[in-house]
Amino acid sequence: MAESFSFFQKVNRDFDKAAQFTEYPRGLLAQIKICNSSCHFTFPIKRDDGTIQTIHGWRAEHSHHKLPTKGGIRYSTLVNEDEIIALAALMTYKCALVDVPFGGAKGGIQLDRREYSDSELERITRRYTYELIQKNYIGPGVDVPAPDFGTGETEMAWILDTYFAMAPDKLNAIACVTGKPIEQNGIHGRKGATGRGVVFGLEEACSLAEDMKPLGLSPGLEGKSVVVQGFGNVGYHTAKYLMEADARVIGIIERNGGIYNPRGLDIEKVVMHREETGMIRGYPGAELIENPNDGLELECDILVPAALENQLTAENAPRIKASIIAEAANGPTTPDADEILQKRGILIIPDTFLNAGGVTVSYFEWLRNLSHVQFGRLGKRFEDQSQHAMRRAVEKATGYQFSEDERELTHGADEEDLVNSGLQDTMITAYQEIRETRMQYRNDKNDVDYRTAAFINAIHRIAQSYMQLGIFP
Ligand code: GLU
Repeated sequence: MAESFSFFQKVNRDFDKAAQFTEYPRGLLAQIKICNSSCHFTFPIKRDDGTIQTIHGWRAEHSHHKLPTKGGIRYSTLVNEDEIIALAALMTYKCALVDVPFGGAKGGIQLDRREYSDSELERITRRYTYELIQKNYIGPGVDVPAPDFGTGETEMAWILDTYFAMAPDKLNAIACVTGKPIEQNGIHGRKGATGRGVVFGLEEACSLAEDMKPLGLSPGLEGKSVVVQGFGNVGYHTAKYLMEADARVIGIIERNGGIYNPRGLDIEKVVMHREETGMIRGYPGAELIENPNDGLELECDILVPAALENQLTAENAPRIKASIIAEAANGPTTPDADEILQKRGILIIPDTFLNAGGVTVSYFEWLRNLSHVQFGRLGKRFEDQSQHAMRRAVEKATGYQFSEDERELTHGADEEDLVNSGLQDTMITAYQEIRETRMQYRNDKNDVDYRTAAFINAIHRIAQSYMQLGIFP
């Protein structure tokens, strides 16, 4: 079966499927769907060997219904205009779904970062930022980039430094980008936020016995077998927090091969092995999966695609053996694969919801930057002392001695505690809202899946914000 959709068409198909359940005017739906602005720019860089190379970069701002727009910047050879616009659209729906007050955006540079030295990457990133500044595609109230596939804290620090040097408003300039290193006005918990959000989302999705029963699974993450595709920032943190939640990560798949151990892999040891050898292949105590495609077809309870788009296709979907697909990447399932997997009764927890942890904590970072104070700084000590006094009073009055675990809970919250608590609440609330929508709209003729329910919620939120403008009836 040929996959006949571009990535942006796929996103729009999911949108249209959900829009049928709403009664908004067609013009309004068309306005929500369209990409408000996008820009392709090229610039030369001088490589270390003296040759000149033309670099292609993009930034798309999909929706200006809320400002700033928000979304990562990726470095990958697959970057093109359609991909960036599709990913920007997904950001719009993702932000609306988890009630983060941003429009969606995305940027990218078409390159394989492994082919460039650090100083070449720095020159490219700074020049890309300069282009964004010139075209008014960056600023704390305009458009705020973040890390994505192939970028991380270092690139964000370069972006900040370049923007800061040229910014007219130095006071708020640090809020021009998120995902920065802690020492450069970043926030505690941002690096692992997408992975942590995936696990909070999965915990909630797996918590109800009535939802797990049709899949033949018991409630809770404990003991569930998981295969993770991709071991970058999102894949690694998802695997790490799943292990902490007592799930069994039995397989990790990377582009040059995977590893498998049905008893479970020790994530930190896998990381150490990769640091020593440059790859996860050859990790002792695990079977090698020579062909990464075979890894997706392993028998497991939960499959987590945490790499790039279009990984689950009409070709491999009939052979997927997982009961749950947890979309940690953006757009990992093609429309044809989606149909096949849904028909096979596999539960797909959609990307727009499941990987929203990154942008949620980016929102916290942006707020921290605009308020110029670390969360918890004012109240932590006071809370610590009053909790401590309360505990002592209870112990004295009742003779009961608090255990170590109970004492752990009675400390003043620091920034990471607050970030994780805000993230957990966001993921739980969004999941419950999606589940409710699904229940509300499904009937004998229509089985509303979670992706459609997520889109319905996002459409409602964005439509409501346009309605406030009074342009639409
Ligand atoms: N790149 C991440 C995403 O796709 C994070 C975006 C952000 O933090 O702005 O959701």
